[in-house]
Amino acid sequence: MCSGRIDLKFILRAFSNGMDGVFIGGCRLNECNYVTHGNYHALTMVLLCRRIMEHIGLNPERLRLEFMSSSDGIRFAALASDFSKKVKELGPFGKSEGIDADELKSKLEAVTKLIPYIKMAKREKLESRLENKEEYDGFFTNDEIEKLFSEVPSYYIDPEKCQACMICSRRCPVEAIEGGKNRIHVIEQDKCIKCGTCFEACPPRFGAVKKISGEPVPPPIPEQERTIVRKSKKKEAP
Ligand code: SF4
Ligand code: SF4
Repeated sequence: MCSGRIDLKFILRAFSNGMDGVFIGGCRLNECNYVTHGNYHALTMVLLCRRIMEHIGLNPERLRLEFMSSSDGIRFAALASDFSKKVKELGPFGKSEGIDADELKSKLEAVTKLIPYIKMAKREKLESRLENKEEYDGFFTNDEIEKLFSEVPSYYIDPEKCQACMICSRRCPVEAIEGGKNRIHVIEQDKCIKCGTCFEACPPRFGAVKKISGEPVPPPIPEQERTIVRKSKKKEAP
């Protein structure tokens, strides 16, 4: 398949499944048959992933991207052999970096959960076409990735403002919003992948979804206080 289809998720899944190294072979740059030039996308995605690996204490040499054409069999064999040799030198994934298995698992899970946020935050850069190798190294910096992770937002629904219109819960891609008709909606923080869809979707006249950065998320409103009693219903009550 096209290297442009490679997602951060695929790479992290391979590592989570115990691979010691991931090798991606893409078509030569500027030789793509399509206007999309997906191999440029693969390049920025891999550069980003390598920096993220560094950020969580993993050796970025475990991930390699090389460009070649379908007639480059000898080149492919040589690169694959070289990469295998390198991965053997590096040793077992995580263990060689001094990270124990449980810590490694939780780090990979935490990053995987943030993929939608990372891709949105870095969308413009991920779409760049890097024309020369000199640009590769400094394209994503360690400081930038540090900042990216320190600024991870949380989303919270203000119970005073929620009108239970259900738009956010219908649009949430991971069903992280609890709600229903006449029920104040609540975000389940453990399920939320920080995509920001609810923030964008909540009608401005309600403005109930808050984006929170650098401070704790208020506790959810208790279950028994979530029912909204509409004014018309109040009048009908005996
Ligand atoms: S940010 Fe909102 S829409 Fe996105 S996953 Fe979290 S709760 Fe769902
Ligand atoms: S879109 Fe806004 S007002 Fe509607 S249910 Fe969600 S948080 Fe409440």
